[in-house]
Amino acid sequence: MSNIKLALLGSEGTGKSAVLVRFLTKRFIGEYASNTNSLYHKRFSVDGRQLNLEVFDPCSQQSTESQCVLEEPMNWADGFIVVYNIIDRTSFLNANNILQHIKEVRTDGCKGEVPVCLVGNKQDLCHARQVSEEEGRTLAQEHRCLFQEVSAAEDHQEISVLFTDLIRSAAERLRRRTD
Ligand code: GDP
Ligand code: MG
Repeated sequence: MSNIKLALLGSEGTGKSAVLVRFLTKRFIGEYASNTNSLYHKRFSVDGRQLNLEVFDPCSQQSTESQCVLEEPMNWADGFIVVYNIIDRTSFLNANNILQHIKEVRTDGCKGEVPVCLVGNKQDLCHARQVSEEEGRTLAQEHRCLFQEVSAAEDHQEISVLFTDLIRSAAERLRRRTD
């Protein structure tokens, strides 16, 4: 059975933990532990294939201070979910930096690019939006990655689809590497 390793990256408070918990449990709790790095395990099936999924959810407090938390999952992960908050422009600029960093560290030639999904979270707060959906989509196109706006607070379906798409891409890439 394949192992697929995903990492969530993004500024503190963008809702990385909320998005992950929504995917894993279909629930939104409201507050999430932010003082530890967490590694979640889940059996997941895509297109009839069983996978062991591991998802790294970094400690938020470190991520604004330094790159160290970024380096840790950078070489480990088979796919990345880069989260920004649509009502926080700074988090969008940081997402751009992270996408750039992934590109620099993870262009492994013939193995193909590592799959990434850019996620604009807190869509339920769109009345206070600081980043348009178009800007998100354009940034994703520049970095040749997937894109989805979501609300961890209100929606399960879109989050489920984005995880499934990313896992599928990561699994295909790993299969190509072992062929
Ligand atoms: P992290 O630091 O990136 O892991 O962010 P958290 O998952 O801890 O979320 C930070 C705060 O944003 C928490 O208070 C969450 O309840 C809130 N939050 C997360 N996702 C959403 C969302 O989709 N909509 C709204 N309104 N709040 C959210
Ligand atoms: Mg968190």
